Amino acid sequence: MKGFTVKYETRYCNICTAHNDKNFLTATSIAYIDNEWIPIKSYVTRCRICSLVYNNIIPNKKSLSLIYERSSYSNRDKNPTHIKNIQEQVKYVKRFFSRKNYVSLDVGSALDKFSEILRAEGWQAYEIEPSSVSMAYNGLNGKFIFHQNVEEFQGSKKFDLISLRHVLEHLRNPINVLKKLSGNLSPNGKVFIEVPNLRKAKPLDVNSFFRFLHLYHFTPNSLSNILKKSGYEIIDSDDKINYGAIRIIAVRPKSIKNRKLIIDQDIKRILDKYFITESKTRGHILHRLRNIVKSKKSKILLWGAGFHSEIILQLADKKLRDSIECFVDSDKLKWGKLFYGKLIRSPEWCITSDLPIVISSLISQESIEQSILSYKITKSRINKLYSYKIPRY
Ligand SMILES: [Zn+2]
Repeated sequence: MKGFTVKYETRYCNICTAHNDKNFLTATSIAYIDNEWIPIKSYVTRCRICSLVYNNIIPNKKSLSLIYERSSYSNRDKNPTHIKNIQEQVKYVKRFFSRKNYVSLDVGSALDKFSEILRAEGWQAYEIEPSSVSMAYNGLNGKFIFHQNVEEFQGSKKFDLISLRHVLEHLRNPINVLKKLSGNLSPNGKVFIEVPNLRKAKPLDVNSFFRFLHLYHFTPNSLSNILKKSGYEIIDSDDKINYGAIRIIAVRPKSIKNRKLIIDQDIKRILDKYFITESKTRGHILHRLRNIVKSKKSKILLWGAGFHSEIILQLADKKLRDSIECFVDSDKLKWGKLFYGKLIRSPEWCITSDLPIVISSLISQESIEQSILSYKITKSRINKLYSYKIPRY
């Protein structure tokens, strides 16, 4: 993978095939792939015909499958909030199934608890996961796991449930994938989809709603349009999820009664409102970080060399950037590497230093604090950027 550069391609609107060339957002993120930092660009547009919000320039098929094959989004997460969210998904799905011995397929599972819970309840719960890193990490090459990209998934096996949890927004062509998967649905089969809801986008931390490798940014209406175009009918939906997602159950009827697309007339207003809040939140957190640096009168260690720190570095002025001595990360593959020109060190190294530590995360703020304390580092050295918690998936 040495010298891997991402190649891009232009995309038409997946729903109405309109060509849209105005971007309301362009951003660069660096992905950690095979021990190297690779910059990946996002270009986001909204369809002037059907109001779908999507990335109109994306990594091409080959680049994208390499990115997913080589990166890990998996960790049989020990975060209790994450596990609780998965239990809620299972509970929701089970409302539509009355027996115990169904056959299911979870697409892009990241090998999390979802299928494991179903298997424990007697289901034959299969999973597809494209990342070798996740595979190696979890050491699970069991009979229920297909190490594959969904676009290459073959076979005539029929499933009573096919689930795509926070997956559809990553696909190059969601309509093609949904159409193809319908061939693997049993006669009464159902699909369960959950995606982030643009209409509920609320930036609580510095991270953007328009996240790295999200190629689509759905509202309930645009998601419903995608399903209609793929030949499905939604039989239940829920957009009241505390982490701002939409979940739906859909079936594949013999004929679709209503094919009319629903357009979000207020899409521009939703986006404008989002960016005002995003800029306020980011301003507030940068201000908080500056105050920490000022009050400690010393350089700081930023704990976490990931997307959250990346945004902070992109927003910070030179003075603030200079005040960061180095990064600390629990991922040993990153130790000794440079992140935006600063060294990434191990947690053990922190013990030998007496610099103040700033936790660069909202989602994992509490668990990181616990892990820092486990290194016998005094609480007075630890600084948090957020005074609240969020229920994010
Ligand atoms: Zn469109």
